[in-house]
Amino acid sequence: MKIQSIAVAFFLLAHLFQCLPGMAQQAQSYDFPQPVDTRSRSIKVQEKKTWTFGTVQASNQFDGARLNDFSKKNDSTFVATISPENKPVNASPWYAFKIWSAVPRDINLEIYYTEAEHRYSPKVSRDGKQWEALDPSRVRTLKGERVQLSLSLGPDTLWVAAQEVVSSTDVRNWCWQLILQPNVRYGIAGKSSLGRDIPFLDIGRDSVEGQDMIILLSRQHPPEVTGFMALQAFMDALLADSPLANAFRQKYRILVFPLMNPDGVDLGHWRHNAGGVDLNRDWAYYYQPETRQVADYVVQTARERKNQVILGLDFHSTKYDVYYTCAETNQQIPGFKDYWLQGIAESIPDYRPRVEPFEIEQPISKSWFLLQFGAEGITFEIGDDTDRDFIKVKGRTAAIEMMQLLIFRK
Ligand SMILES: [Zn+2]
Repeated sequence: MKIQSIAVAFFLLAHLFQCLPGMAQQAQSYDFPQPVDTRSRSIKVQEKKTWTFGTVQASNQFDGARLNDFSKKNDSTFVATISPENKPVNASPWYAFKIWSAVPRDINLEIYYTEAEHRYSPKVSRDGKQWEALDPSRVRTLKGERVQLSLSLGPDTLWVAAQEVVSSTDVRNWCWQLILQPNVRYGIAGKSSLGRDIPFLDIGRDSVEGQDMIILLSRQHPPEVTGFMALQAFMDALLADSPLANAFRQKYRILVFPLMNPDGVDLGHWRHNAGGVDLNRDWAYYYQPETRQVADYVVQTARERKNQVILGLDFHSTKYDVYYTCAETNQQIPGFKDYWLQGIAESIPDYRPRVEPFEIEQPISKSWFLLQFGAEGITFEIGDDTDRDFIKVKGRTAAIEMMQLLIFRK
């Protein structure tokens, strides 16, 4: 009886150790030269509502919206106030709202940013899916932090947004389209602070061990929709029914986390998650649930399947197209980035990639790939205003050049 109890206790203890997420399966912590405090801070959540002034109404009652206040200035002019989730924050004044008038009329709409200057040229849509740039003749900068739009309203909803609205539901629906293809699996790596799914796609031959692995990330920063568009084009090439792509998916395992910050995306945050933190500074101690769970998932699943992570690409947006690379040489595929960038340059006429190498300084994903796995880490930045067709060309070309370089490795 006593021996049985000891055996049961031993079994339970062993099982407990196996189940504990940390036991030798957690991502490592790192002391970066420039540490960043990523413990949670409070955020100001925007009130979700529809404002009404006579026949004119405006609403932020949808995922991805950012409209903190709406007021009437005079008979013809209304003001949309846009504020960040907390401060300090990058100057990424993201806005998105619906507006309409029961009686057709023209209005002036001032967008007023409380903490930044105007950055994103307005886009409009009738259905929230198909977007076009608002005619520049209808946009006038008043002062840095105010811009005035001339809008023709009617009973049908007009969507106005800083970038095309791509919510967590849109990302999930896109993922679900992709899993119709063979050897593409959909999963949930964990939950955000507010309980939203953190989705991933796992591509390659299921249950095959020992393959080298590539990690793709996107939307750590909510407004960076153009980076996500590049990821979508990258995936189109990767999942194409071409000899190159088919062979590549036989040889490699690819893990994709297209929505790192679902709370920030759906709440319309300028930069941070619901913990008020820049997730792309949290790759040292993983204080935020999004980085913690994704980092641990990658480490655990790579260990289980004996995968070696060789490359991590993190898709973002900034004011221009640029590749942020690690100055340090990686152990897994040294020289890859130079050949890859050269291949992209030679494949796109009249295009010269802008490259900015960085030493390991802050807890950013590209440095984490290098420290955790000895892998190449690259931040793939697309400009806010980069032509949408050119984004597709760049995304597809980047994937094809990557596959051509890596397919012939050992
Ligand atoms: Zn970013």
